Formats: sequence, structure tokens, C-alpha cells
Amino acid sequence: MPMYDYRCQACHKPFQAKHGFNDPAPKCPECGHAEVKRLIVTAPTLAQGILTLAGDSRRASKEQLQDKWAEETPKLRKKLVDKLGEDVVNRNAPTLNKTFD
Ligand SMILES: [Zn+2]
Repeated sequence: MPMYDYRCQACHKPFQAKHGFNDPAPKCPECGHAEVKRLIVTAPTLAQGILTLAGDSRRASKEQLQDKWAEETPKLRKKLVDKLGEDVVNRNAPTLNKTFD
């Protein structure tokens, strides 16, 4: 199950919650407020999305996956930085800064 980052709209405390993609957002664990904002999907979820983009991971070669990662990661990272800011991306998705050798 994927992990999501939220920030409570009432007390502004960030928290993480694990739930299915189609499940409703959880309540704030601090104050119980129902209005929470999803910040970003965590890096493993992003990586999984990239692997899915690359096709069937059982058939795709390691090289194909690395190519796809190298191609998609800078684009994805830029999109996230534009939307959320450098700090949030560095904190939540440090693996996006990594490249394959
Ligand atoms: Zn709260």
C-alpha cells in the first residue's frame, strides 16, 4: 500500500498515512480535522510509477529501466519542484536526486 504525505489544514502538522489509491484522505492524527492536503507521493511510489511506465518489469531489461529512469526522473523532479518547491522535493523524494552510473 502506498504511503502519502499530508498536511493538516487546521493545525498545519505534517503526517504520513498508508492507504489505497482510491481511499479517502485520512483525518489529521493530531487534531482529528478532516481537511488535510496531500503533499507528494513518496519516492517508492514514484519509482514504481516509472517502472510501470517502462512496461512489464519482468520483461524489461535493467538497461531499459535505467534509461527510462534517467529520462523520466529529471522531468518528474522538475514538475515536483515547480509545484512544491525544492525543499519539499529534497525532503520527500531524495532518490530523485540520484542518477544511475
Ligand atoms: Zn490537525
